[in-house]
Amino acid sequence: MKKIKMLSRGKTILTCITLFATVSLAVLMYFNRDWTLLWMYHDKSQEITILETQKEFWLPKWFSSRSQDAIVDKKPNTLQLDGWFHASARLDVSTSTYWSAPIVWDGTFKKSVLEDYYSKQKVTVGLTVFAIGKYLDKYLKTFLSSANNFFMVGHKVIFYVLVDDLSKMPWIELGPLRTFKVFQVNKESRWQDISMMRMKTIGDLIQSHIKYEVDFLFCMDVDQVFQGDYGLETLDESVAQLQAWFYKADKEDFTYERRPESTAYIPLMQGDYYYHGAVFGGTPLRVFNLTRECYEGIRRDKERNIEAVWHDESHLNKYYLRNKPTKLLSPEYCWDYKIGKSADIKNVKLSWMPKEYDVVRNNS
Ligand code: UDP
Ligand code: MN
Repeated sequence: MKKIKMLSRGKTILTCITLFATVSLAVLMYFNRDWTLLWMYHDKSQEITILETQKEFWLPKWFSSRSQDAIVDKKPNTLQLDGWFHASARLDVSTSTYWSAPIVWDGTFKKSVLEDYYSKQKVTVGLTVFAIGKYLDKYLKTFLSSANNFFMVGHKVIFYVLVDDLSKMPWIELGPLRTFKVFQVNKESRWQDISMMRMKTIGDLIQSHIKYEVDFLFCMDVDQVFQGDYGLETLDESVAQLQAWFYKADKEDFTYERRPESTAYIPLMQGDYYYHGAVFGGTPLRVFNLTRECYEGIRRDKERNIEAVWHDESHLNKYYLRNKPTKLLSPEYCWDYKIGKSADIKNVKLSWMPKEYDVVRNNS
């Protein structure tokens, strides 16, 4: 009799524990869901950088299905290279890397094949741009109106504009298939930090918005202007831009970070190309990985009190050395007219605006 009593008491305790665990689980899941929704609704005005840490407060990462929510590479199947790319159409320049990635120059691609392919896929392309402090007044309007005219014309585009002052967002009438998403971010006090923190913010934004919305993403500096069609030929999994001043330079002259104490360190005689920090792109997943790794390097350098010589660009170069881009863009895709005339440059698609550091930067 006593045994039976003990057994049934045991059962009751077990039932209570199970019940308690289930209720706790439901409560935790409810809060997690609720919080996530809150986060999504507050997109426009929230400071996106803090939100991720708050999420970890509610539930550990391994437990939360949303934070585990993988960034799915929903890129359309890549078009076979021989269908659209003609490496031999430009014999005057290098059109392929030693790891067989195409280097896209004017004249090397068949626009009609690309248009036909991607129109059927109905691609959406994202473009992030930061305009903080004086860069907002000075460059944003020119950048966006020229992007409206030349960036992925005929295809769906979302401009992700990150500013520190929403009231200064310029009014631009967008063409068909184009939309803006404007976000407010904190203004770091040093320009170096404004530039570097882009890596963190872009990563956060990919997780919260971009991964649900686009097939391909570009991230660009604001101090530039589109001059000609910047089209489908630039799309790929991981896209890097050749820096205009260095595309013919010897690798020992590249301005990589050369101090071994920095995570961006590249020893002399190593490296493939000198890539430009003002333009990078790829699928949301690949850009996410890039921004996370670069930001991690920046963070670790800060802990060690060191700052890479060319800031985020140094970390970007280190990343691409270890993770080869699948496509390179010729300097026609980000040209500096200050270099002067060059027979290689047939058709400029994007060009640097004149640098006015004394006007736009608030610290040296
Ligand atoms: N930026 C900004 N405000 C600043 C500093 C930088 O908005 O005070 C952003 C802006 O998009 C800019 C980019 O960070 O184009 C990189 O900085 P900058 O163009 O000065 O670097 P550079 O091209 O001279 O290396
Ligand atoms: Mn710039």
